[in-house]
Amino acid sequence: MPVEQFGIATPQEGFIDITATVREIVRRSNIQQGICQVFVPHTTAGVTINENADPDVVTDMLAALGEMVPNLRYRHGEGNSPAHVKSSLVGCSITVPVVKNSLFLGTWQGIYFCEFDGPRRRQVCVQVLGS
Ligand code: ZN
Repeated sequence: MPVEQFGIATPQEGFIDITATVREIVRRSNIQQGICQVFVPHTTAGVTINENADPDVVTDMLAALGEMVPNLRYRHGEGNSPAHVKSSLVGCSITVPVVKNSLFLGTWQGIYFCEFDGPRRRQVCVQVLGS
């Protein structure tokens, strides 16, 4: 199937659960067995999989990423260098198996768009490959 895209308006730095939207794209693809790739075409955002039961988990992840990325004398003049570093730490794509036309996620797993530099208008690309 072709790459599908959807937009998100991010209010600020934070994690946005996009699992339901990705699930729906997989369902509409009608692909039974394969993979689903989620890609974020941005340099100050990312995408990751983590627990979607306890909202404290993503709050803790943001806090931990904040501690990991120090406030250096960055050369990049835009003032958002920590967001660029966090984007590379988290990564800009994930792949999930597709089984029986459904995302094969663990019970507690959700897919999160990671905004490190909001507010912004963002895009998410989803491609489902298989048969
Ligand atoms: Zn920048």
